[in-house]
Amino acid sequence: QHRPITEAAHRHGTAICLQLLHAGRYGYHPLIQSASARKSPITPFSPTAMSDAQIRRCIKDFARAAQLAQRAGYDGVEIMGSEGYLINQFLAPCTNQRDDQWGGSADNRQRIAREIVRAVRERCGADFILIYRISLLDLVPDGQSWEDIAALARDLETLGVTVFNTGIGWHEARIPTIATSVPHAAFTWASEQLKHLVNIPVIAVNRITTPEQAQAVLDQGHADMVSMARPFLADPHWVAKHEASEPINPCIGCNQACLDHVFSQKTASCLVNPFACHEQERQLTAFTQTRRVLVIGGGIAGMAAACYAAERGAAVTLIEQDAELGGQFRLAARVPDKADFQGTLDYFRQRLAQLHVNVQCGRAAQASDLDGDQAVDHIIVATGVLPRQLDIPGSTLEHVLDYQQALRGQHPIGQRVAVIGAGGIGFDMVEYLAHAPQTLDQWLQSWGVDRTMAHPGALTPAAATTPAREIHLFQRGTTKPGKHLGKSTGWIHRSNLKRYGVQVHTGVHYERITEEALHFHFREKEHEQAQQLAIDTVIVCAGQLSHHPCAALIQDRAHTLIGGVKLASELDAKRAVLEACEAVLALP
Ligand code: NAP
Ligand code: SF4
Repeated sequence: QHRPITEAAHRHGTAICLQLLHAGRYGYHPLIQSASARKSPITPFSPTAMSDAQIRRCIKDFARAAQLAQRAGYDGVEIMGSEGYLINQFLAPCTNQRDDQWGGSADNRQRIAREIVRAVRERCGADFILIYRISLLDLVPDGQSWEDIAALARDLETLGVTVFNTGIGWHEARIPTIATSVPHAAFTWASEQLKHLVNIPVIAVNRITTPEQAQAVLDQGHADMVSMARPFLADPHWVAKHEASEPINPCIGCNQACLDHVFSQKTASCLVNPFACHEQERQLTAFTQTRRVLVIGGGIAGMAAACYAAERGAAVTLIEQDAELGGQFRLAARVPDKADFQGTLDYFRQRLAQLHVNVQCGRAAQASDLDGDQAVDHIIVATGVLPRQLDIPGSTLEHVLDYQQALRGQHPIGQRVAVIGAGGIGFDMVEYLAHAPQTLDQWLQSWGVDRTMAHPGALTPAAATTPAREIHLFQRGTTKPGKHLGKSTGWIHRSNLKRYGVQVHTGVHYERITEEALHFHFREKEHEQAQQLAIDTVIVCAGQLSHHPCAALIQDRAHTLIGGVKLASELDAKRAVLEACEAVLALP
């Protein structure tokens, strides 16, 4: 059944390899197996330890799968030996406590990897590409030592591996390796170490998203090839567009529509490209007649809607009241962790120009926009949200800012700051306020990554992080702050609270703000003395309200509301872009 895939790849002049992955204890069912019966901290099921016969069977299964891949037309296979999956579970002392020939010494722990490579090479012949994905940094306690990894690499090269792909960090590692906050190409120094040891090509991975970053990795001699996955969800035409010097829609490392979907059993897609993995049902077919579309609001939803409508062949006008396009997404790009968001805006801006969308910034929509020389057929309203203001005495004082004012950087922000509201934006605000610029080395040290690789798992005690400010984060509810953040990135934001020494106050009732202090009490302790916290600035991140300034203007004209103006609650960029896509697909 795989033949249509391999034939399609070959039609386009490219080679294609199939990754063979045994998840071991990361499997998501009750019958999972591993080297030892040790449960992983990120799955609900406990594995049983594989018997000698089961291990031998598993080796044969890898070889048979490789042979089937070969018959299906694949040019090779990649054997997944990293990220904490089965083979990696055998390799590392923390997950392998066996005392038979598959455990104990490094030589025994590595036996399964050698036997799989040997079996695949024997079964598939000399010309078949055999990529082995080797874990260079396990980033878990009692992970592999660099000496062990180096010995394994040499052995596997001798046994016939064609190319080494590399892996950084197990899925359970508490060090971010792929999120937006990870510096680009942050770990290619590790692939460079491998390159010094072996004579076959080495592939670098993690947070390499643009052609420029990829080229820099090659130019620095850190790798011979570069591997990417998410960038092809963001833009499947990445390679062709690079060759044609066309703008590429870059992956922003948010994980919101890819990994977070997978972890919640939904179809993977992409925040910046909602067509990803929905190519069959979401197709921008050309309009059969002339269409004029007016998009009001030039945030990310409006920009995407204007592009998609123009791609269907409509004559599109996009009106944005602000002097610049981008809306909330542009503000989010000011958060140090989210600087990549700027790439999305740049991409959509270039597409608007290429598609000849009539973009008009710095003015509100007016009646003549609807019925000028030619009447518009459809209006897409994407006017977004306004920040919810705090309604207590003192909330209009000069040192009380909403999050938009704070992020615009036009108001001074003091050293002691109270952030009101601990949702996604409250956490972003903490990052914005606490962040101090770091070199790559400082970033690695602050997360406890041992660049010398002298310690097992490449872990070392994390260096203390010095936050730029003293921050207090408040919420009225008593649930754990950040509980509803993305599955694959929420833990990073929550660890940052600790790293930055943020003082969290939950179950709070706000009373008033004065020039010097925020006055509040804890809801369940009303009888207790009111609290008073000396602060320089209060920043309100208390959610948002829909902003629909053109309701009267459009009245009964055909229109669609998308993004925050449709529903402010739980608005995020993923929903905004998806609704842009759906609105345009629904146009007759
Ligand atoms: P949010 O997640 O709904 O959080 C709003 C916060 O304000 C909550 O902590 C809420 O907690 C508090 N609040 C609500 N009403 C209040 C009031 N009247 N007075 C005082 N406090 C009030 O909204 P958000 O932070 O504005 O984020 C908007 C959306 O963007 C969310 O869906 C969020 O997930 C998304 N977002 C996502 C990311 C990401 O990284 N994925 C980043 C930013 C934003 P209490 O009621 O308990 O005080
Ligand atoms: Fe990249 Fe985010 Fe798209 Fe995932 S959802 S591919 S991380 S831009």
